[in-house]
Amino acid sequence: MKYQAPRGVKDLLPPESEAFRRLEDEVRDLFVLSGFREVRLPIFESAALFFRSIGESTDIVEKEMYLFEGKGGEKLALRPEGTASLLRAAIEHRLAEPGRTSRLYYQGAMFRHERPQAGRLRQFHQAGAEILGPNDPDTDADLIASVSRYARETSIPGSQLLINSMGCDGCRPEYRKRLVAYLEDHKKHLCETCVRRISTNPLRVLDCKVEGCQPTLNTAPAITSFLCPTSREHFERVCQALNEGDIPYTLSPRLVRGLDYYTETAFEWVSDALGAQSTWAAGGRYNGLVSSLGGPDVPGVGLAIGIERLYLLREKSGTLPRSDAPPVTIALHPLDDDSRGYIRTLLTSLRAEGISCVGLFGSNRLKKAFVSAEREGARYIGLAGENERGSGTITIKDLGTGVQKTVPVAPIPQLASLLSSGFPADSTP
Ligand code: ATP
Ligand code: MG
Repeated sequence: MKYQAPRGVKDLLPPESEAFRRLEDEVRDLFVLSGFREVRLPIFESAALFFRSIGESTDIVEKEMYLFEGKGGEKLALRPEGTASLLRAAIEHRLAEPGRTSRLYYQGAMFRHERPQAGRLRQFHQAGAEILGPNDPDTDADLIASVSRYARETSIPGSQLLINSMGCDGCRPEYRKRLVAYLEDHKKHLCETCVRRISTNPLRVLDCKVEGCQPTLNTAPAITSFLCPTSREHFERVCQALNEGDIPYTLSPRLVRGLDYYTETAFEWVSDALGAQSTWAAGGRYNGLVSSLGGPDVPGVGLAIGIERLYLLREKSGTLPRSDAPPVTIALHPLDDDSRGYIRTLLTSLRAEGISCVGLFGSNRLKKAFVSAEREGARYIGLAGENERGSGTITIKDLGTGVQKTVPVAPIPQLASLLSSGFPADSTP
């Protein structure tokens, strides 16, 4: 029996795993710089939380959730996204309170049962930031600008910001009515799911990815023509702030996002370098979500970055962060069984000085040790046998230059500094 990772689930191996971690660190730094603090959220939650927040007639809830039963029969789900969990936690721990601002971020694996493709996995990673409290357009614009600037600074290829307004509870019903009328009239050009959603969740129809539906959707009424004065002003001020901040954007009047909870500003960053999975980050304002989850009437705005897609983009442009895993400085090898304890002690002492080192205990054969040291990526090999033990020394060879030297092991800080500063070239080979 051979085991394989489940479909749509990827093992991340070195050195990719190291670049991936650096990317996550970069995004975290971006959030921290804007005042966000981390929340570690559970991987699974009560399924009802996602039904309620994401919305019943969405792709996620209809077909993508990993649902399971707890031992007591409770309905649970692997998290498909982070906002619902973050808000649940913020409400539970009183971080979402009227009159205060909470800036929180999360990072981690999300789970959706989708058809796996490049940039579309069943277990993938998001980093997301949410601002609870303020309801002003400048907050939206500032959040959007931070990601757009990051895209510019890191030269993400072909990145484009799309924005729209989803209106509010005041103006959306009228738009919804007009949209339903239009969709009913054009039913025969829409896919089965779209037709079903006309009655369950008409706005969601605009999010359909089926090729054949696109011409009809492209000429559907645009929500921006139906905005009430308050929503219109909010949206105009977001756009104005972006203009003033020199943040390019494209108005995208049919952008609705794949989740139901958005109000007012909605936005996503796409890139033509990503193929079909073009969106690499997305977000929006969700003013009714905290209260609909049982919290106080606190507005919010947030976004999530898809780390795998960010990785693909940075890989394309050759700007992936390089691994920061420190290479092994020295591989230590006992020349006989009696020297094993001597080597073990030396490993402990060197690590205490911050020197990365490994023990080559597999065999006492010198030739094998050299091959192993190269495989470990070590810069030096250190050898100890009877002579070294007797004199309290170690024989060190620089595997790059071939320079070799026998040096005292004590005092350890001196040995450590010799290893970290590099071998003097005048040593006898
Ligand atoms: P898409 O339209 O591509 O399905 P979405 O609207 O479902 O995306 P969101 O729920 O807004 O995506 O998630 C935010 C980001 O997370 C996306 O922009 C994308 O970068 C990433 N993402 C979403 N689903 C996946 C997935 N299955 N695999 C990899 N990344 C994903
Ligand atoms: Mg999706």
